Amino acid sequence: MKRAIFPGSFDPLTLGHYDIIKRGVTLFDEIIVAIGVNADKKYMFSLDERIQFIEEAFADEPKIKVVAYKGLTVDFCKQIGVKFILRGLRNPADFEFEKAIAHTNRDLAPIETVFLLTSADTSYIASSIVRDVIRNKGDYTKLVPKSVKIK
Ligand code: ADP
Repeated sequence: MKRAIFPGSFDPLTLGHYDIIKRGVTLFDEIIVAIGVNADKKYMFSLDERIQFIEEAFADEPKIKVVAYKGLTVDFCKQIGVKFILRGLRNPADFEFEKAIAHTNRDLAPIETVFLLTSADTSYIASSIVRDVIRNKGDYTKLVPKSVKIK
């Protein structure tokens, strides 16, 4: 069974993430959306909220699982026996950043990173932009799946 993890903060899940996950499902038997927990980072949404947004968005998709993890992504992959990391690319800046991480991960463990190019209509979306829109009381609903709700 081919399984991949899609790691990130997902603070919150956006239509960009949604697009990559949906397309990843056509390549893998299982996609584990893995929320990296960094104790030093401040998040807008709690871990429970972020998990719920993703679980609800993919409620009809049994091939998609959601988990939280701490520490190195490659260590988590080894722990759960996953050989592929899925990442999305939006632009050259993403490419340079992702390239360095993928090379480092490859040095650390025999795990391949698979990149999917974002769809044109979601390529401008980033969680940081969504958070900014939310903070400034703008309409964020066009940028995120319906499951992302603010209390
Ligand atoms: P991080 O905290 O590592 O930046 P994110 O939660 O922002 O993680 O993103 C996780 C993954 O989703 C990364 O591979 C990122 O490039 C990808 N991604 C984020 N936004 C988009 C988008 N609009 N289109 C495609 N991929 C995206």
